[in-house]
Amino acid sequence: MRTIYLDNNATTRPADEVVAAMNDALREHWHNPSSGHRPGQTARHGVDLARESVAKLLGCRDRQIVFTSGGTEADNLAILGSLASQPDRNAFVTSSTEHDAVRESAEVAEKAGAEIVWLPVDNNGVVDCNALEQTLKQRGRDIALVSIMWANNETGVIQPVETIGNLCREHDVRFHTDAVQWVGKAKTKVGEAPIDLLSFSGHKFHGPKGAGGVYIRPGVRLEKRSIGGAQERDRRGGTENTAGIAGLAAAADLAGKWLETDESARLAKLRDRFERAVIDSVDDVLINSAGAERMWNTSNIAFKRLEAEAVLMLLSERGVCASAGAACSTGSLEPSPVLMAMGVERVFAHGAVRFSLSRFTTEEEIDEALEIIPQAIAKLRSSMSAV
Ligand code: PLP
Repeated sequence: MRTIYLDNNATTRPADEVVAAMNDALREHWHNPSSGHRPGQTARHGVDLARESVAKLLGCRDRQIVFTSGGTEADNLAILGSLASQPDRNAFVTSSTEHDAVRESAEVAEKAGAEIVWLPVDNNGVVDCNALEQTLKQRGRDIALVSIMWANNETGVIQPVETIGNLCREHDVRFHTDAVQWVGKAKTKVGEAPIDLLSFSGHKFHGPKGAGGVYIRPGVRLEKRSIGGAQERDRRGGTENTAGIAGLAAAADLAGKWLETDESARLAKLRDRFERAVIDSVDDVLINSAGAERMWNTSNIAFKRLEAEAVLMLLSERGVCASAGAACSTGSLEPSPVLMAMGVERVFAHGAVRFSLSRFTTEEEIDEALEIIPQAIAKLRSSMSAV
């Protein structure tokens, strides 16, 4: 049976060039970049070149990139490092539709004495900028950081980061964006945007898992979280993951070239066709966040009165890989907190399934998925009515 992989927001297939770059780094350039000898310096040169590739993808200078073990660590560093480096500011502003890496950083900060302000979102999951403006006006001097993601991992909804960043600038407050689901899939010019800190992760754009980083605007001080070494210009201790970084750079080069094409527009049409076909062939479905600007690759479809777990199991048996919101919440019976925050009715939220495409997704795969999905839903619904 063929596998139709529509779970690319969980992770993407590493491109062949990424695997080749990592293989080369592991076999030939495995030395420690901090070593003074020649092979060590060759490894250092590899890390330097990789930083240039990533900076080019992000639209910033190479010195502004700190490599981490991925998006989670990048978010932890940006948030907890920002709070620790500004002891005179005690509040942290974020939204309830953020990834756990941000939400749980907020919870840790709260236990340590910080005050967390959770901004509301509308029915599409877009952050309420008026609420942010009010908070900034009232509390500006207390706020260490505002953190709002660029694109949501569950719904694909795109946040107005430019507006948010400008509001933060007006009030002299630092702004972080978790761009893990954005970078590599959409053009980014972080150096020209009102953004102070930005997180990204290689495995969301055909790079390896365990390699990502943070963009840090010059002048923004962060207290480091990983201590015990002066690597990454003393912002993140620990010997560099040279193979992961090489793979990340290869992925960045490929993504940069791909973003010069109009492939994302073609894939957006494919995603739209997929959604229309599901709506036409299945009763009682809801496309979450359909009323807002979304990433070209994400479709969050709620099947009324079904459990996402049951849908996913049946789809998986038939070769279609998808997921229920955040991959890490799979296995929990509670509906996604993101959909709850958006006010999605429980009868829909329980049955919400995320389908996410990648630049490798083909028309044929979507056609096949469209054969399988309506049959699977019909089967589940008929077994329900038989009970
Ligand atoms: N932020 C968002 C929006 C994500 O989707 C993810 C991964 O699913 C992360 C952060 C965590 O990234 P990583 O898997 O690289 O730790």
